[in-house]
Amino acid sequence: MNKSDRVIVVGAGPVGLCLSLALAQEGVAVTLVESLGDDNFLEQVPRAGTNHPATLEMFDRIGLYEKIEPRGIIAPVFHYWDRHENALIAAFDHIHLKDDTRFPYVLQCERIKIVEEALKMAKAHPLIDLRLRTTFTAFEQDADGVTAHLTNPAGEDEVIKGRYIVSGEGARSIIRKDLGIDFEGFTYPDRTLNIEVAYDFRKHGYAERNYISDPDEWSNLFHWKGPPDRWRVHFPTASEEDPEALQRPEALQARLQGFLPKAGDYEIVGSNLYTVHQRVATRFRSGRAILAGDSAHVNSPIGAMGMNSGVHDAFNLADKLVKILRKEVGDEVLDRYERQRRHVAVQHTQAETIRNKRVLAEKDPAVRKKNHDQLRRISEDPKLARAFLLRTSLFESLREAEQIA
Ligand SMILES: Cc1cc2nc3c(=O)[nH]c(=O)nc-3n(C[C@H](O)[C@H](O)[C@H](O)COP(=O)(O)OP(=O)(O)OC[C@H]3O[C@@H](n4cnc5c(N)ncnc54)[C@H](O)[C@@H]3O)c2cc1C
Repeated sequence: MNKSDRVIVVGAGPVGLCLSLALAQEGVAVTLVESLGDDNFLEQVPRAGTNHPATLEMFDRIGLYEKIEPRGIIAPVFHYWDRHENALIAAFDHIHLKDDTRFPYVLQCERIKIVEEALKMAKAHPLIDLRLRTTFTAFEQDADGVTAHLTNPAGEDEVIKGRYIVSGEGARSIIRKDLGIDFEGFTYPDRTLNIEVAYDFRKHGYAERNYISDPDEWSNLFHWKGPPDRWRVHFPTASEEDPEALQRPEALQARLQGFLPKAGDYEIVGSNLYTVHQRVATRFRSGRAILAGDSAHVNSPIGAMGMNSGVHDAFNLADKLVKILRKEVGDEVLDRYERQRRHVAVQHTQAETIRNKRVLAEKDPAVRKKNHDQLRRISEDPKLARAFLLRTSLFESLREAEQIA
C-alpha cells in the first residue's frame, strides 16, 4: 500500500488507538495525533471501566485482550437492586451467552489501562507514526486527500497530508464542528456524583456490577479494580447543588452511609462530578473526514455503552478503510458505515441508556413494580435472559447493523 494512502487519526483514546492498530495490522500506514504526552497521558480523569463481550472479541482480534485481562476483573454476573425495598430484583449471568461468544462475561478494566496498553502496542508498530504532545487544530480536504494542521511539541505549526482523517477526538471534536455537523440531543440538568471507595461490597450480596433503583436516589455500584478493592458508587445530584459542598468529605461519607450504613467511616479514595449528555451527530462522514466514538455520539454511562460502542465504530470503520485503500471497494462504503453506526447510536445506545436511567429513577410505585416484575421474569427464563443479555452486551446492535445495506 502506498505511503500517501495513510490515514490520519486524531485522538489516542480507546477509539483512536483501536482504529490505528486495526488499520496498521492490515498494512495501512497511520499517523495518530494525541495532545497528551508521555508525561501526562496517565493523568486522565477516571471514565469507562466495563468492557462487554463483543468488545472483548474485538480487543482479542488486535492482541489487546491478553494485555488487559490480567489487569481487569472478570465479572460474569450483574444485578438489579431495589434500594427502597433493600432487595435483589434480578441477577443476570453472561453464561447464557456461552454459545454466542468466547467471552461470556464483562471485563471490568478501566479505560486508562486499556489506552496505556494500546499505546504501548501503537508505539511498537512500524506503520503507526505516533505524535504525542501534538495538537490537531484544523483540516482541509479535496478530491485526493486531506491536509491536517498540527501544533507539534515545540509549539510549531506543522502540516501533514493523508488520504482520510478520522476524528477520535472525543465529544469536543474540532472536526465535527469544522464540518458544521450538529450534535443533536440533550443534556441532563442534574450531574452525577461518582465516589471511589475502598470497600468490598460483595460481602453484602452485591455483584461486581449493580444497577440500583430508588425513587429518591438511584445509584450504580461497580467493582472497579483490585486488589486492593476499589468500588465506584454513582449518585444523582440536583442541578442547583454546589459542587464543592457535594464533594466535602462529610457529605460523601453521609451519602455512602445513607446508601449502606456501616460501623466506622468509609475509606473514600476520590470523587468527581460529571455532566451527562445524550447526543448523536447528524452525520458520521463528510467526504474524507469521518467521526467515530464520542465525537459521533455521547451517552449516559448507565449500561456501559459509550466506549464499547465507540470501539465497535472503530472496527467497523477499519474494515472499510482497509478495503477502500486496497481498492477492493469504492469509498461509498463509508456511507454504509454511517448508516450502520448511526442506527446503532440512535436505536440502541441512546434508547437503551435513556431507558436505563428512567427505570432506575422511576418514582411511580405501580410503574416501578411493573419494571421490576419484568426484570425478574426475564432473569428467571433462560431464553429471555439470553435475549436480554444479547441486547445489553451489544451483540444485538452488531447483528442488526450487519443487516443494513
Ligand atoms: C464516569 C464515566 C463512566 C463511564 N463508564 C463507561 C463504561 O463503563 N463503559 C463504556 O463503554 N463507556 C463508559 N463511559 C464513556 C467512555 O469513557 C467514552 O465513551 C470513551 O472514553 C470515548 O472514547 P473516545 O476514544 O471516543 O474519546 P476519548 O476517550 O475522549 O479520547 C479522546 C482523545 O483525543 C485526544 N484529543 C482530543 N482533542 C484533540 C486534539 N485537538 N488534538 C489531539 N488530540 C486530541 C484526547 O486527549 C483523548 O486522548 C464512561 C464515561 C464517564 C464520564
